[in-house]
Amino acid sequence: MKKEDVIERYSKIFPKASRVTYAPIVGIRANNARVWDIEGREYIDFLSDAAVQNVGHNNERVVKTIKEQVERLIHFTFVYGFTLEPLLLAEKLAGISPVENPKVSLGLSGSDANDGAIKFARAYTKRRTLLSYLKSYYGCTYGASSITGLDFHVRALVGELSDVHYIPYPDCYRCPFGKERGSCKMECVEYLKAKFEGEVYADGVAALFAEPIQGDAGMVVPPEDYFRRIKKILDEHGILLVVDEVQSGLGRTGKWFAIEHFGVEPDILTVAKPLGGGLPISAVIGKAEIMDSLPSLGHAFTLSGNPLISRAALAVIEEIEEKDLLKRAKKLGDYIMRRLNKMKEEHQLIGDVRGKGLMIGIDLVKNRETKERAYDEAKKVIWRAYELGLILAFLQGNVLRIQPPLTVEEEILEEGLNRLEQAITDVEEGKVGDEVLQKVQGW
Ligand code: PMP
Repeated sequence: MKKEDVIERYSKIFPKASRVTYAPIVGIRANNARVWDIEGREYIDFLSDAAVQNVGHNNERVVKTIKEQVERLIHFTFVYGFTLEPLLLAEKLAGISPVENPKVSLGLSGSDANDGAIKFARAYTKRRTLLSYLKSYYGCTYGASSITGLDFHVRALVGELSDVHYIPYPDCYRCPFGKERGSCKMECVEYLKAKFEGEVYADGVAALFAEPIQGDAGMVVPPEDYFRRIKKILDEHGILLVVDEVQSGLGRTGKWFAIEHFGVEPDILTVAKPLGGGLPISAVIGKAEIMDSLPSLGHAFTLSGNPLISRAALAVIEEIEEKDLLKRAKKLGDYIMRRLNKMKEEHQLIGDVRGKGLMIGIDLVKNRETKERAYDEAKKVIWRAYELGLILAFLQGNVLRIQPPLTVEEEILEEGLNRLEQAITDVEEGKVGDEVLQKVQGW
């Protein structure tokens, strides 16, 4: 089949609500940080397939494990019976999570994990109000999209859960309070206090949902003591802290979970994307007393705890442990940051580079003073990168998303960074025409 045919048939059968396009790549084979398309072209994947392939595409250990397990047992009911694989996985997740004395509920996607977290938090606290952040992303199911701070227009169209309030995220590059990094009074923390003195009855709040690093908002990293200060306020009112580690978890930032960089223990944590090595699985990990607050079948899916996917997830975790990938994420991340900061000196288009480990954003701007987002230029960089054989995406329309696998080979990483710099140079030099703007959709 031809690439053009596949793409045309895609748009006929899949609604736009269920997809987004950055570049016309029809993938048919992948290995670690490389993907081959239907025309035999090779690409370097700087996205890890949207932070899914932390241990690389078709990781050898994961593939071998899946093959062995598929011969033995694909599925035996988890909710009505017992199998070994989900048990071993849940115990393993409990062991690596920063949640104290946890219990684990398994699911199938980041979205359903966040829905579960809403239910556990409301049931335990017997409160309904939820706090979330502007520009946050928690998923597409009703609950998760109701606390999502992006895409208000979708929610306005379809209705949403009530009792959700938003606060600004601590974004030190584009401070919502107009302050500069390092010379503020943490107005973002004061905002929460003010909210409790006005609009929101604090003792009616079940939980605050937070991404420890905001992913889809453009890789926004909070100041080091932000969450400690916020947790103190939450504790004064018996409000739970739920951290969404769907994008930032499982080693991506150089720790098992990104919240560990900030010195607070969450009450509930959600994890998904990279957990199954590409197969659908998620987990809600919460303090036992919280997780025991829902009755039997209060949060369970027929296929959760699937032995095949649980075994794949165990292989992903073993791979991270045995290859010491937490350390590797930090080492490679530090290297990328050094190279990007150098690029920033030479390219006016780069306004800011930020991130932790291998969760990095490059904020493209039209003007470094005004920080006006460079939307068209971002599309052109994505397209040029595609032409050069590099898979990239942007967030918020202008922030390039750099999230290669933790296992990426150093020479492939270097080559990918060279292609990235070439793409930025070509756009700055006007070598990419306006006609490509129609071709890149993005979100
Ligand atoms: N939370 C975060 C932080 C995410 O980045 C995503 C996916 N982009 C989700 C939740 C939703 O996960 P899923 O697509 O698996 O439902």
